[in-house]
Amino acid sequence: MLYVDGKWVEDGQVAVDPEDRGYNFGDGIYEVVRIYKGRMYQWDGHLTRLFRSAKEIKMELPWSHEELTDLANQLIAKNNITENDDASLYLQVSRGASPRVHDIPSGIKPVIMGFVRSKDRPVADMKKGWTAQLVEDIRWLRCDIKTLNLLGAVLVKQYAKDAGAQESILHRNGVITECSASNLFVVKNGELYTHQADNLILHGITRQVVIDLARDNGITVHEEAFDIAFLQQADEVFLTSTTAEIMPLISVDGAAVGNGHPGPVILKLQDLFEQHINTSVLV
Ligand code: PMP
Repeated sequence: MLYVDGKWVEDGQVAVDPEDRGYNFGDGIYEVVRIYKGRMYQWDGHLTRLFRSAKEIKMELPWSHEELTDLANQLIAKNNITENDDASLYLQVSRGASPRVHDIPSGIKPVIMGFVRSKDRPVADMKKGWTAQLVEDIRWLRCDIKTLNLLGAVLVKQYAKDAGAQESILHRNGVITECSASNLFVVKNGELYTHQADNLILHGITRQVVIDLARDNGITVHEEAFDIAFLQQADEVFLTSTTAEIMPLISVDGAAVGNGHPGPVILKLQDLFEQHINTSVLV
């Protein structure tokens, strides 16, 4: 069951207005929320980011936090996601439908759409790690907005896959930003480094959880930009996202990171993250 513009619709029965601006321009925003054991993890953070993204693209959301929470819980219930299930919730809001012009039409009504899919935690991958390829960050200058307009992310991910790697690490003129769909961290001498939360990266919910967990456990975190040479000398490298959690990167451009296996700081953070999932109050 999907929720589309105020109605419950079966899979395969959704009609998209050909002049929906999400469809024509990628003019809209979205969130992907983790569901562990049938309940949402970090929901407040996702809601806050959704409202921030809306504001940044000059879109007013006509729903309250309570209404969206209720909708998310209905999506979970109607899709029979129970306490035995891990899943992900996709929620998107497009600017709405109107005759096609670039500037924002007045009086336009946002169109909300949501669905839930079963999704296991990537347990085996998190033990082994992924390979990564450096790719130029060809995206725009407002990567802090979680916009539907993802063609830059699509292309950089494909460049990495074409080069035989599982994920791209993006750089702007040699400065590392993040990955195609995740934030990047490196470990050097037991300390964490990740790009500051500015306009060049998405302010990842998982990134913030990891920073908080690290600091609470005595690991120093530097939120500052670093370059390719620093990445190449890192002891450990990992990415974070809602669905990939804390994913070790075991090689960059074919060269092993450290000894080619997830290192001790990553293992520690994965352990702390697992405890956090199990002890957080899920909505
Ligand atoms: N950066 C980008 C570009 C992303 O698309 C995402 C989300 N998939 C992230 C970082 C990670 O954000 P989060 O931890 O909130 O999923």
